[in-house]
Amino acid sequence: MNKTYHKVLTIAGSDSSGGAGIQADLKTFSALGCYGMSVITALTAQNTKGVTGIHAVPASFAAEQMEAVLGDIGADAVKIGMLYSAELTEVVARGLLKHGIRKIVLDPVMVAQSGDKLLQNDAIEALKTHMIPLAAVVTPNLPEAEVLTGEKISGYEEIQDAARHISHHNCQSVLIKGGHSENDDSDDLLYLTQEERFVTLKEERIETRNNHGTGCTLSSAIASFLAKGHDIEAAVRRAKTYISGAIRTGAKYKMGHGHGPVHH
Ligand code: PLP
Repeated sequence: MNKTYHKVLTIAGSDSSGGAGIQADLKTFSALGCYGMSVITALTAQNTKGVTGIHAVPASFAAEQMEAVLGDIGADAVKIGMLYSAELTEVVARGLLKHGIRKIVLDPVMVAQSGDKLLQNDAIEALKTHMIPLAAVVTPNLPEAEVLTGEKISGYEEIQDAARHISHHNCQSVLIKGGHSENDDSDDLLYLTQEERFVTLKEERIETRNNHGTGCTLSSAIASFLAKGHDIEAAVRRAKTYISGAIRTGAKYKMGHGHGPVHH
C-alpha cells in the first residue's frame, strides 16, 4: 500500500530573513510532520529590523503556481498569508474555489512586526468579499480585527463583538489573537460561527523581542492540524500550544538587530 503524506500548501509572501512568511510556514509544516508546498504571492527584502522592498508576483503567475500544485498533488489544507493586492486576493480565491479546497486558514496579514505595510488599502474589501467566506479559520490580531470591523477594540466584550462581526462574512470560525493587547496575558478568543460558541485560549505572556513570524507560524500550525484530521477547536488548541513553545524556545536567542524569529 502507498503511504500518504498530510499535504499542506501555503499561499503567502517570501521573507528573506526566514523568520516569517513562506519560510516560517514551510518550517512549521515540516516540524509538525506534514508535506509543505508554496505559492509565492510577493517577494520581500527583509530582515529583523524591517521590510526594505516588496516585489509582487503577477497575479497570473500566482494562479499558475496554484494550478501546478493543486492540479497534480492537491492539498489537505491551505494556509493563506500575505496577499498584498486586490488582484492577487481575487485570483487566489478563484483557484481555491476551482479546486474545492475546504480546510483554509486565513491569516489576514496587513503589517509586519516591524510596522511595514504588507497589504494595499484597496485589498481589504477584496479580502472581506472573496477570501473570508472561504475560510475555516480567520486569524486576525487586534489591529487587523479593528481594520476588518472598522471598530476600535479595547475590552473583552468588544473582542467578542469583533469576532461575531467578522463571522458575518460567512467563515466557519474566527480566532482573535491577544498578543498585541496591553494586558499581562495573551489570551486568544476563538468564535465558532455555527455553534455561536466562544472558546478562550489562555497562555502566559512570554517577554521577548523575538516575535517575528508568530502569526505565520500559528496559522500554519492550525492548517497542519486540520490537514491531519483534527476539528477546528482541536487544531487551534494544538497550534496555540505549538506557537507558545516556539516563542518560549526562541525567547533568549540573539538574531539580527530587531525582532528576532520564533524557534521551530
Ligand atoms: N508574511 C510575510 C511575507 C511577512 O514578511 C510577514 C512579516 O514580516 C508576515 C507575513 C507577518 O508576520 P507575523 O507572523 O510576524 O505576523
